Amino acid sequence: MKIGILALQGAFAEHIVMLKKLGVETAEVRLPEQLDDLDGLIIPGGESTTMGKLMVDYDLLEPIREFGLGHAVWGTCAGAILLAADAHRKQPLLNLMDISVERNAFGRQVDSFEAALDISALKQADDAPFHAFFIRAPIIEAVQGEAKALVTLSDRRIVAAQDGQLLATSFHPELTGDTRFHKYFLSLIKK
Ligand code: GLN
Repeated sequence: MKIGILALQGAFAEHIVMLKKLGVETAEVRLPEQLDDLDGLIIPGGESTTMGKLMVDYDLLEPIREFGLGHAVWGTCAGAILLAADAHRKQPLLNLMDISVERNAFGRQVDSFEAALDISALKQADDAPFHAFFIRAPIIEAVQGEAKALVTLSDRRIVAAQDGQLLATSFHPELTGDTRFHKYFLSLIKK
């Protein structure tokens, strides 16, 4: 199994460390042809407007969209925004998941916070609360069609959603050292 990590901007190196911990082959993706032999793709956190513009400049927007129609793709934070159909402003989006997001829903960088999330929906052997970091994070305000809410905060706001092989998380599992979300993503890949 080989997983690509979009490496245009943001926290891609941290995802590579997590996948290596799980013994998975990884590849940094900066060119469309680098998608060819991948089983899945991670779009990291960072800044979604910048990353979206770079995806347009590098001719990656349409190839990643096509890849996502048949493969597993996981977006964390800015990556989750890029997977969405609607972010309430004009910016390049992949429009792969039928979700709408509100960017920076919890405020500015100084309002970053940590939360213990109930991840029983992931059906992992260990379902102890997941310690999550929210850094200028989006909220997933609506899930439609085939997309389902996967994880919510205690106030029921949605912070993880899934549609088949597509996964969006508002937070940063790559910063925790806890590999359960990465394992969950790998479990979505159809062989
Ligand atoms: N605030 C960023 C955005 O709107 C996302 C932040 C992150 O990825 N940590 O794109």
